[in-house]
Amino acid sequence: MHKIFDRCHWVFDYYYAQQYDLQLKFPRMRSIDLKIVGQAVIIVVLTVFGSTQAQAAVTRYVIHISVDGLRADVITTLGETRLPNFFRLRNEGATTDNARTDVDYTVTLPNHTTQITGRPVVGPDGHNYTQNDMPGSSASLHGVKGAYVSSVFDVVHDHGLSTAILAGKPKFILYEQSYDAASGAMDLIGNDDGRDKIDIFEINVDSIELVDDFLSAMTADPINYTFMHLRDPDTAGHQSQWDLTIDSDYPDSVIEVDHLIGKIIDTIQSNKSLRGQTVVIVTADHGGRIGTTTHEPADSRENYMIPFYVWGGNTAAGVDLYTLNSGSRLDPGSAQPAYNRGLQPIRNGDAANLSLELLGLEANPGSTINARQDLKSIKMTSIAQQISLPIGD
Ligand SMILES: [Zn+2]
Repeated sequence: MHKIFDRCHWVFDYYYAQQYDLQLKFPRMRSIDLKIVGQAVIIVVLTVFGSTQAQAAVTRYVIHISVDGLRADVITTLGETRLPNFFRLRNEGATTDNARTDVDYTVTLPNHTTQITGRPVVGPDGHNYTQNDMPGSSASLHGVKGAYVSSVFDVVHDHGLSTAILAGKPKFILYEQSYDAASGAMDLIGNDDGRDKIDIFEINVDSIELVDDFLSAMTADPINYTFMHLRDPDTAGHQSQWDLTIDSDYPDSVIEVDHLIGKIIDTIQSNKSLRGQTVVIVTADHGGRIGTTTHEPADSRENYMIPFYVWGGNTAAGVDLYTLNSGSRLDPGSAQPAYNRGLQPIRNGDAANLSLELLGLEANPGSTINARQDLKSIKMTSIAQQISLPIGD
């Protein structure tokens, strides 16, 4: 059933992307004409490339990794020899080093909440969780917002799929407190899977143990959606003022993360249940400012510029995500565009609805970032290039 839904979902996404492109190219054409053209295109896509669509439906597992305090430029500074696994993601995946955090906050809990909800931090659409300290034992996202804040965990769990959080800082207890059997919403989708939205929850400041525990769980009984938080570059960055000099603490912590990512992708590739069916997303909550002990203010490029890498399954190989999404996202150069300013950059907040889309699930209720699920990581240009549109200049 998921496969059928996923296939239709992808095709309709493609249809809407075509409509959007056509409207840009032919602004004077009436929308009814554009619809006819779009439908003709989609019939060709369905007929000729049906098998390609079916392949797009095989993602069963998403591992969403947020590396705390990962500046995008540390990856290029260290290079492929020191970071073979980050570069494997780049060479085999769809990636950018010019993604963005939330506009108003570049600190841990607000930006991770954005990553799991697809909502900005502030404003009426925002999740409104601006604190970054250890939450009180009764704190929840819903209590702060004054309304239920749905997340990726809600959508995945309510569809009967499994979820996990493995995090390196104690304050991530916020998410367990927000989505446990007492605080999670009723499951109104299909079978009642209960209110506890997170099947596996682990906090461990030792990232090696955290990843080992995750891989044991993943190979014993694969988890459909995992949110993994790797803390070490943030800790090293605060202590060393984000010094990028080779062999200093911050770059060394990124090399350690590279080893852990290598373990994860090696496990995927050596396990026939996971290989080809698992997509890994790697991004960050924020960067960090050289010469300071912080990653604020939010309007500093060093703080808001982060990587966003997608790898595995049917992900396009060695492709820039902005090139792949030229109709729906715009490389912001050095800027941090406001949420209401035209085509958006790729943001860490895109990860929520991208994860859901890969699993064949609808966007998270209340989300506004990638709410159309139009951030693509599967190569579509090869299909589009083979179709000659029945209209031209
Ligand atoms: Zn920090």
